[in-house]
Amino acid sequence: MLREDDRILVGISGGKDSATLLDVLYKIEREFPRSEIIPVTIDEGIAGYRDRALDAARTLAARLDLKLEIRTFQKMFGYTLDKIVRHREDTAMGACSYCGVLRRRALNEVALELKVDVVATGHNLDDEAQTVLMNILRGDGLRIVRTTRLRENSFEGFIPRIKPLRELTERDIVAYAHCRELPYHDAPCPYADEAYRNDLRMFLNQMEHKRPGTLLGIVRSAETISHTVRSGIRTIKNQTCIRCGAPTTTSQLCKACMMIDEIRSKRESDGKETRDSS
Ligand code: SF4
Repeated sequence: MLREDDRILVGISGGKDSATLLDVLYKIEREFPRSEIIPVTIDEGIAGYRDRALDAARTLAARLDLKLEIRTFQKMFGYTLDKIVRHREDTAMGACSYCGVLRRRALNEVALELKVDVVATGHNLDDEAQTVLMNILRGDGLRIVRTTRLRENSFEGFIPRIKPLRELTERDIVAYAHCRELPYHDAPCPYADEAYRNDLRMFLNQMEHKRPGTLLGIVRSAETISHTVRSGIRTIKNQTCIRCGAPTTTSQLCKACMMIDEIRSKRESDGKETRDSS
């Protein structure tokens, strides 16, 4: 996944997965003096949650003598996630849908700004299996190809992303973080109850307990599907967003711009209603 002179952006949330990732990569990369690790935290603006996780991220970075870069949704998009959630009552989308799309965009922009070669995130095997199943259940099979891609298959304009922990279960990672006494924040996000993946987590945990290997089997199947599609029909077009110029594989407007438009028009109509009623 990595080359010996890589400049690596490591996405740090303050949780156990990214703490483990940073600790492991730091140990490995010490052997490669031409490589560099830059920890980055995206602060979505979730009051009482991300601020505490940020403390854990700062402590870990300081322990490893690394400078933590912090960027916020508020500065990058004009809204915190809390504000977005307050203004999205009449949409069917959960907080995590906004959070995921905007965080991915934010990480890619910081990666371009810091001129890194690769972005590493702490997704584990449980996360990956849940994502594959979620895409299948939502009828978005093509997304499997987009999310299960190797570094070499990245799209132009997107800094390649790697997930070094993607074959380790959440239990392995908790064990590692405890053994290494890593500082991390483990309280759940206040919006986590909304997450579709929570239902799948319970189901997959039961399956993995009953039939060990289920999680890895799902991820391996997704890799096979992705590889087959990629080496056959080249259906994924790469284009740029007509508004912000960022790369997009979905439509003329990228997903982040569509979300920001939607929030903005909702805020404007809320303001109009308030003025009308007063
Ligand atoms: Fe974002 Fe959802 Fe994760 Fe909370 S649970 S940090 S809203 S993706």
